[in-house]
Amino acid sequence: MMFPKIRRRKTNVVYVGSVGIGGDFPIRVQSMTNTDTRDIEATLRQIYTLSEAGCEIVRVALPDEKAVVSLKEIVKNSPIPIIGDLHFNTALGEKAIEAGVAGLRINPGTFKNKKRLDRLILMCKERGVCIRVGVNAGSLEGEILKKYKKPSAEAMVESALRWVNYITEKFSYDNLKVSLKSSHWWETVRAYEEFSKKSPFPLHIGVTEAGGLIPGTIKNTMAVTYLLLKGIGDTIRISLTADPKEEVYVAYEILKNLGLRTLHPDIIACPTCGRCEINLMPLYEEVEKWAKKVKANLKLAVMGCVVNGPGEAKEADLGIAGGKGVGIIFKEGKIIKKVSEEALLKEFFEEIERFLRDHPERLNP
Ligand code: SF4
Repeated sequence: MMFPKIRRRKTNVVYVGSVGIGGDFPIRVQSMTNTDTRDIEATLRQIYTLSEAGCEIVRVALPDEKAVVSLKEIVKNSPIPIIGDLHFNTALGEKAIEAGVAGLRINPGTFKNKKRLDRLILMCKERGVCIRVGVNAGSLEGEILKKYKKPSAEAMVESALRWVNYITEKFSYDNLKVSLKSSHWWETVRAYEEFSKKSPFPLHIGVTEAGGLIPGTIKNTMAVTYLLLKGIGDTIRISLTADPKEEVYVAYEILKNLGLRTLHPDIIACPTCGRCEINLMPLYEEVEKWAKKVKANLKLAVMGCVVNGPGEAKEADLGIAGGKGVGIIFKEGKIIKKVSEEALLKEFFEEIERFLRDHPERLNP
């Protein structure tokens, strides 16, 4: 079944290094390292893992001078563009630009010295560094908080518009994207919706401080799906208190289910029931682990029994179903092989490889 085509809102095109965002570019997937930026090896290792999972742009925290010193080496060896994450200290931002970052996330509410902030913006302009105006409900500037009494979607929109206008008007610089984040998903959605009516700048969407893998995925999915269905969102980060590569997988799952972007195979899996005649959970886990490493447009099915398995998973390219002590492999809804339960996984992967050899067009770059 085809998902109805989503019409994306037309936004300005901006670049983070060589990665285009907005316009007709695909919705980009981002994440953030959680290693100590001063540890070059650990940070680069995590960046490579994220990139292999499909992360296209990565943000690193710049808490102090030492972190910025490591940055040069990290930028030089990273397979994807690096964004430096900055709060309070513009001097660190200047050094991060010297180190070669492709983008800076600045939270204008956290900068008190306007002159220094101006110098930083000017430096971004001179070097073509993309600025993310990253407004956060928890750190709005004093004046705005005074006006709205407390953080709200309206307050975030006013803050973001104020900074976007400031940078575009005073510096004639428009390599900008915007985020308006709150830990409450509905407030986040309202802020993005309002902002998108007033500005053509690309939006980096997601719910901040959303929590662990399950609660964080749910909050983010609610907000991100709502926005994407309305055509809003040019780049996403699913913020999770979990291994950052999970953020990338969740982002692609959302994009895939909305028909916006497919990177990894889709898996249909039965929840198991009393008819299940094989040990399905470990089989499923192995298939999922494999699928996360493979970039292909493929639908797989992992089903517990042959009674309903192939029929329930008709849309799958390939699938397995359990029988009594045996496993069935099916292709496009038809049974092609019966093998012992022990050999099932190995034979299944061989069949998938054969299928991909016959259908190279299914491989994603
Ligand atoms: S495919 Fe079979 S085992 Fe799985 S839920 Fe359906 S009936 Fe139960």
